[in-house]
Amino acid sequence: MSNFREIFDQHNWRDIKKSIYSKTAIDVQRALSKDKRDLEDFKALISPAAMPYLEQMAQLSHQLTQKRFGKTIQMYVPMYLSNECQNICTYCGFSLDNPMKRRTLNGAEILKEVEVIKKIGYDHILLVTGEANKIVGVDYFQKAMKIIRPHFSHISMEVQPLEQVDYELLMKEGLNTVLVYQETYHQEDYKLHHPKGKKSNFYYRLDTPDRLGRAGVHKIGLGVLIGLEDWRTDSFFNALHLDYLEKTYWRTKYSVSFPRLRPFSGGLEPKVVINEKELVQLICAYRIFNEEIELSLSTRESEKFRNNVIKLGITSISADSKTNPGGYAVESESLEQFEINDHRSTAEIREMIQAQGYEPVWKDWDMVYDER
Ligand code: SF4
Repeated sequence: MSNFREIFDQHNWRDIKKSIYSKTAIDVQRALSKDKRDLEDFKALISPAAMPYLEQMAQLSHQLTQKRFGKTIQMYVPMYLSNECQNICTYCGFSLDNPMKRRTLNGAEILKEVEVIKKIGYDHILLVTGEANKIVGVDYFQKAMKIIRPHFSHISMEVQPLEQVDYELLMKEGLNTVLVYQETYHQEDYKLHHPKGKKSNFYYRLDTPDRLGRAGVHKIGLGVLIGLEDWRTDSFFNALHLDYLEKTYWRTKYSVSFPRLRPFSGGLEPKVVINEKELVQLICAYRIFNEEIELSLSTRESEKFRNNVIKLGITSISADSKTNPGGYAVESESLEQFEINDHRSTAEIREMIQAQGYEPVWKDWDMVYDER
């Protein structure tokens, strides 16, 4: 049975970092002039040597995105079902060691949230919980999905890593997409930021996309939490992971997100800061490396930044997000997982997208097509 960890273990963080930072202008020019790029080209595109080529990268990324996705932006909204969590993560407001009121939505409350979200116009929902298997385990998800499924054409999930058989069960209930971010591929730093709970098992998390691929899920979302470690090296490992998954589970689709560490109650300062120009570089590098990949940007980013990157390679965004359970209708005052940065309403985001000549899409068309 193939497994990404075998490939991961053949790579050394320090060597990869050195190789990225030693890329030259010639390597960048070569990467830009090719039709198909490999992981060495990706290294060049995310390297400091690529910064003078940012305008050229942005134009190419724009063209490639429009060729593959047209002038569309997919819209989704997160719905937090629970803030219970058995893990300690140094960067998250839901961490077990953060004294706060814990809340898990019951069936009636889920339905209330669904009604409000549907009225806003969404058809693609991202279900989010902390990681607390006993309170929000597979049984809870099955019950929640029975309530949610009739109202949405696409259901994504960002919860604790599960077993293959659990994913198979949830797919029967309507699960389409699972997001599972490795946070960082730097093993020592991973241990520092995840000192307690099931999430402290680096390899169990690393193996999760393999379990999802074997279950045959429609789409897998990958990403690292930018700010924990050197973003270039972490992004290379994420691209390595993506490359392996695409070749191994070729029927599954993939997306990459770019979460930057955001303030939260009692929060951690980023070890490494990525500035907005560098984040644009990273987005464009992914697009130039991989024309098929969906690239997603959440409300963690500012209004101005999100307006500017719509045309550069991003294919899906969230809006109107509440990052607390019950945040839309049931309990607007409960503690958020992190502070959002773009507070505009869905209607305002729709206008912004249309003003740029793009069309907001409320369904995942690929999924509708697959089901025919
Ligand atoms: S990041 Fe996830 S697992 Fe970690 S404390 Fe937050 S909710 Fe829990």
